[in-house]
Amino acid sequence: MKAAVLEALEKMTVKEIPRPDCGPDEAVLKVEACAVCGSDIRIYHYGNDRVHPPTVIGHEVSGRVVEAGHNVTRVKVGDRVAIGADVPCGRCYWCRNGMGTNCKLNYATGYQFEGGFQEYMLLNRTTLDYGPVTPIGDTLSFDEAALAEPLACALNGLELARFSFGRSICIIGLGPIGCMMLELAGIYGASRVFAAQRSKVRLELARRFLPGARFIAIEKEELVDTVMEETDGEGVDLVVTTASSVKAHEDAIKMVRHRGWVNLFGGLKNQPPLCIDSNLIHYKECFVMGSHGSLPHHHEQAVGLILEKKVHANWYISEVFGLDDIQSAFDYHESRKGLKVVVKPGL
Ligand SMILES: [Zn+2]
Ligand SMILES: [Zn+2]
Repeated sequence: MKAAVLEALEKMTVKEIPRPDCGPDEAVLKVEACAVCGSDIRIYHYGNDRVHPPTVIGHEVSGRVVEAGHNVTRVKVGDRVAIGADVPCGRCYWCRNGMGTNCKLNYATGYQFEGGFQEYMLLNRTTLDYGPVTPIGDTLSFDEAALAEPLACALNGLELARFSFGRSICIIGLGPIGCMMLELAGIYGASRVFAAQRSKVRLELARRFLPGARFIAIEKEELVDTVMEETDGEGVDLVVTTASSVKAHEDAIKMVRHRGWVNLFGGLKNQPPLCIDSNLIHYKECFVMGSHGSLPHHHEQAVGLILEKKVHANWYISEVFGLDDIQSAFDYHESRKGLKVVVKPGL
């Protein structure tokens, strides 16, 4: 079968490798779609402690089960499923207590477990026992179903920040996750939504996801001043930074309201630490937190929201490439011209 093998940093080769063997506790998925994520690009350029080449990455996956071992009950041959990234080990303190994103082993598809940039992918026992393996029914397209993974991360981010009906929110960074947060803010019944973005292209792409939001072009308007002015100096209930920028993180703490929440969602790599006056947090009695990844129940919620067209997964897909063109898919993602790129091994 064909696979895009990450052989070393910045070296990915599409080549023939043996199809995975299916043990009695395992299943094999025929990958129909695997969306490209910013973290795939980071792994490609900089590597990751949990990724050991030669391997196959890709963690926003959907496909059809083509083999299932005789002990497997979770899936059967023919099932159409979406697969998420984070796989709780099921055994450590965090997993036993429902907080698998903090799992000690921190397993993930496309990291320790081979991912979706290949024709067939193994669903191992841990994934089948505890991981995000969600049926998608007969009507949902595989391309849309693949986007349940990033949507699950957005859901986890809003859930941990205790976001709820009637609250105000500011989203900094309108890439795919920012746009998903926008749609979710609408679903949550947010009272006011500010959406900020530096690049003009992405600001324009984002408008359709929640036309009633107040869009702020950071190039043109000073973000903190604008939000504070338009909220009578109060700030917003929740600020989420999906942008991986120190400035975004610092601004978020400046414009959250008293007793509000800040979710530092975008991870920072090779950047200086934040420089903030901790008295801001002290006197605001605000909650500064972070979130990463998702739990299997978020993945199920995400599939449900996409199935019901509450979240318009098809709006995010800007380009589709075959596995042979995976390099073009990565280049397109990095060009930031669109939102999501999907790789289809069967194309
Ligand atoms: Zn992802
Ligand atoms: Zn665990």
